[in-house]
Amino acid sequence: MNNLQQLKKMQDELPENGFLMPVFFIGHGSPMNGIADNSFSRGWEESVHDLPLPRAVLVISAHWLTRGSFITAMEHPRTIHDFGGFPEALYQVQYAAPGDPALARETIELVQATRLEPDHEWGLDHGTWSVVRHMYPNANIPVLQLSIDYAKEAAWHYQLAADLFELRKRGVLIIGSGNMVHNLRMVAWDKLNESNYGFDWAHQMNDTFKNFIREGAHDKLIHYQKMGKEALLAIPTPDHYYPLLYILGLQRGQEPVAFFNDQAVGGSLTMTSVKIG
Ligand code: ZN
Repeated sequence: MNNLQQLKKMQDELPENGFLMPVFFIGHGSPMNGIADNSFSRGWEESVHDLPLPRAVLVISAHWLTRGSFITAMEHPRTIHDFGGFPEALYQVQYAAPGDPALARETIELVQATRLEPDHEWGLDHGTWSVVRHMYPNANIPVLQLSIDYAKEAAWHYQLAADLFELRKRGVLIIGSGNMVHNLRMVAWDKLNESNYGFDWAHQMNDTFKNFIREGAHDKLIHYQKMGKEALLAIPTPDHYYPLLYILGLQRGQEPVAFFNDQAVGGSLTMTSVKIG
């Protein structure tokens, strides 16, 4: 593509009012962050302060793994307490944001990579509400979820994200909610309260992921299994990593990248979050 074609393509990708909604990857960590007032929850809250109110929020959560692809399409998504062994206060949380069935239909029409189907059963799992309630505490913005087809490989998810790009022009805030480094079997439970406590490999992979994101080396991030044994410790299963690939797939050209909540927790998790755009 020559320069002129490139310029034309960039113009095509801008909405009429010139504003393209940024996209976020959020490291969500423990469900307790949903009711905590800590540096992570404040980071989420502040991340949207300088944004115009979105038309809706669409979340790709690590906690909705499916066969086939679904988007929530109900008027009133329920708050799902998809965890066990936490304090009662966490089960009491209701995040009563409305759905947006019309937007679900629009999204189904936009997605060409697969057959996206409307869902009326799911709702908002903790990968979504634990984060979004800090961003929009009044629950006045519609929230939808897109499922992760867990039978598909990394590159497929990255490519599907490109079909969602149009939503950024239409004022939809798209969030991938997972954790870049996420190894629950190796968590040092006695170190949970120690600030930025990460094993060497966790810090190393966190830095590697950030560098590749900064450089736009998406191909390397898609093929994370070739990054060596530290990457396999960071990503023993890809559920919390795939949401990052959606956000990278929504990046265009030289859009700026910013990191926040860049901390390790319990040795084998990182909360590192990314804003693109
Ligand atoms: Zn999680």
